[in-house]
Amino acid sequence: MLFDTHAHYFDERFAEITGGAEKLLEDLFAGDIRYIVNAATTTRDSLKALALAEKFEGCYAAVGVHPENCDEEESVGETVARLRALLKRPKVVAIGETGLDYHWQNNPPREKQKEYFIAQLDLARETGFPVVVHGRDAHGDVFEILSRYPDVVCILHSFSGSPETARQYLMNRNRYIGFSGVLTYKNAVQPVEVAKIVPADRMLSETDCPYLTPVPWRGKINHSGYMIETVKKLAEIKQLDLEETKRILTENAKRVFRIDR
Ligand SMILES: [Zn+2]
Repeated sequence: MLFDTHAHYFDERFAEITGGAEKLLEDLFAGDIRYIVNAATTTRDSLKALALAEKFEGCYAAVGVHPENCDEEESVGETVARLRALLKRPKVVAIGETGLDYHWQNNPPREKQKEYFIAQLDLARETGFPVVVHGRDAHGDVFEILSRYPDVVCILHSFSGSPETARQYLMNRNRYIGFSGVLTYKNAVQPVEVAKIVPADRMLSETDCPYLTPVPWRGKINHSGYMIETVKKLAEIKQLDLEETKRILTENAKRVFRIDR
């Protein structure tokens, strides 16, 4: 039994797979995959993530705005109002993905990204939902902002920071680290070091599909069926039995997202 804590099955790229995302999800749930959280990147696809969650028993939704997409939103007030309404739906389990991304020069201005990030953290504090955090080339600012929200449960998804930064986050019991296919890459020195220090009860498995396909399937569209490679690698690093690793990862995710409790 596996839990993919971060996927984007509403992404158009899944149309390239025969039968599309829905056929793929049927096949995945017939196999080893039990739970999937689809993380939205705009208020528009928050609705798509919710539609999948309402169609498939094992699907849940995170609703929110990704830092690279905040330019597509009408206004921060309007976004928060829409997200607040969506959080009332039973299959919505988190806010996100939100955060900061300074990687590309044409990304939305940093101040605007921060405005959306902070608004979503405020909403999390008000409602008690966990937050799915995306950080790329912005670790200092992400860390500084999150330190103002020690009470909010945060998932640092596909974490790309240093082991030192990870250690600082993990001092707060409300922080979890998501491991994606990046962990299987030959040049993945930092994620492996982070995996070594993460306590077993604070690690999560994810795909970020259709992106970040693990070895040996790089070049293909990623999906939850490939996540076993990441889980195997995590088991190897943590020196745990594979079945035990799967059980721990599923337990952790169910606790974070408050599923079946
Ligand atoms: Zn993502």
